[in-house]
Amino acid sequence: MGKGFFQVPTAYNEPIKSYAPGTPEREEVLQQYDAYYNGKVEVPLYVGAEEIKTGNTQTMSPPHQHAHVVGSYHLAEKKHVEKAIANGLEARGKWANLTWEQRAAIFLKAADLVAGPYRAKINAATMIAQSKTIHQAEIDAACEFIDFLRFNVEYMSQIYSEQPESADGIWNRVEYRPLEGFVYAITPFNFTAIAGNLPASAAMMGNVVIWKPSDSQVFSAKVIMDVFKEAGLPDGVINMVMGDPIMVTETVLAHPDFSGLHFTGSTFVFKELWKQIGNNIHSYKTYPRIVGETGGKDFILAHPSAKPAQVATAIVRGAFEFQGQKCSAASRVYLPKSTADEILGLVKADVDSFNKPGSPADMSNFITAVIHEGSFDKLAKYIDQAKADDNAEIIAGGGYDKSKGYFIEPTVILTQDPKYTTMCTELFGPVVTVYVYEDADWGKTLELVDGTSEYALTGAVLSTDRYAIDEATKALQNCAGNFYINDKPTGAVVGQQPFGGARASGTNDKAGSAQNLLRWVSPRLIKETFVTPEDYRYPFLG
Ligand code: NAD
Repeated sequence: MGKGFFQVPTAYNEPIKSYAPGTPEREEVLQQYDAYYNGKVEVPLYVGAEEIKTGNTQTMSPPHQHAHVVGSYHLAEKKHVEKAIANGLEARGKWANLTWEQRAAIFLKAADLVAGPYRAKINAATMIAQSKTIHQAEIDAACEFIDFLRFNVEYMSQIYSEQPESADGIWNRVEYRPLEGFVYAITPFNFTAIAGNLPASAAMMGNVVIWKPSDSQVFSAKVIMDVFKEAGLPDGVINMVMGDPIMVTETVLAHPDFSGLHFTGSTFVFKELWKQIGNNIHSYKTYPRIVGETGGKDFILAHPSAKPAQVATAIVRGAFEFQGQKCSAASRVYLPKSTADEILGLVKADVDSFNKPGSPADMSNFITAVIHEGSFDKLAKYIDQAKADDNAEIIAGGGYDKSKGYFIEPTVILTQDPKYTTMCTELFGPVVTVYVYEDADWGKTLELVDGTSEYALTGAVLSTDRYAIDEATKALQNCAGNFYINDKPTGAVVGQQPFGGARASGTNDKAGSAQNLLRWVSPRLIKETFVTPEDYRYPFLG
């Protein structure tokens, strides 16, 4: 604490800009897109004060134009990862002891930089790197990232103000120490905001961080580092290293000062990391915190009373925005027989109204490319299988083409088997599978929804019948960490819908909440006695 109980500015959600034709933001972001698209960005490793160019590079290309190169990034060797850890630990002393309001100011400044001078840059970089439409880039890279930064500063101040009672003659206080060591942040490709938040939330609480972004997100990760630097984040607090994920991770997890993992990505990878940490447990100085938000197989369940147009819109937006590459994307849908035809007719009409998948630079496109060839090939394989299988039928989309970009048409599979492979497996693409149930089987369908998937991330129930809503809310209590009533299962907003799921979907530490920040501190209780006893005898001893 400095010399005052400072109040941080009240956090608020960053307003989403429209990018409608004729708006200045549209012109600005398109200009920035062109500048990045026609330029060449070189991304170094950020290690302490150094920007290291190892010479061993990987090119970066937009998923919607994969033959086009927009730059390259440098790959770390083991010695660079070790250097990043050493630099982080060296920076730790000063950073952990900096008064909290100075840390808060850095991240509040970062939020304002993203809201202002870096908005077009971070959005354009996200459009290029992750093939997001401008709307998807704006709600992620600009607004959600800003929200994470502002709300976490507010939560940090709330955490620090949480103090114990003190009886007469003593004073109890709690200080929220950063973890003793360093935090390792591993981030996924799909959200620029998550990429920024995972290292920032731990750093905000006084930790130093080794950050390994996804290979598919480095282009926009560089803008995040530019923002942190301009905001005045001291060297060595967040060290960004790219490289072979296995080598980088083995090096980091072998270090005795490793004290926390902040991961978002797929379930299999997270489970492997947990195992590795367990295997190394005897070598650590402290028990590492493990936070992981992972995969999902998110559902939409429509009750017979639900309005067909509302269900159809929830499906179309929930399943296809950002090509279904949101961990929260709807990918299994349960429709009642009485309204299924009408709902699916509306879904098909919507899908038919989309342009063919294309570049986000063409702002009339709703659907762009999936992230890389591996993802494209996997999705194409599942689509082909559905075409061949007797118990599945493709009723919309089903086309794909990777000649220019990794384009998969938004695809709707209808199956008679509620346990069909695409009802259970996370595909992470614009493919949604629908199962139609008999209206009378509503109760059985609730059990089916609960028992079908290993995941429990998001889910939505649509109904106009309050008894049915209540029944579903109770029956589906454990199959979604974020449960939506009469809405789509995507689009969680920081400060409003803290995000995370359970079962195989993660540790549910709710990104964008005080709960998450608490994982990055180790409280120390300080008890001070004012008049210290000088005789061991208690009165009962007579
Ligand atoms: P991914 O698991 O392939 O990669 C995530 C990160 O882990 C990347 O940085 C990657 O390089 C790294 N990685 C991969 N293999 C590794 C290994 N063996 N050792 C160490 N690190 C390794 O995931 P992705 O494709 O980037 O993202 C999509 C996944 O993330 C989906 O499963 C999605 O559901 C999940 N996700 C979950 C949430 C959530 O909040 N629950 C949010 C976003 C994404």
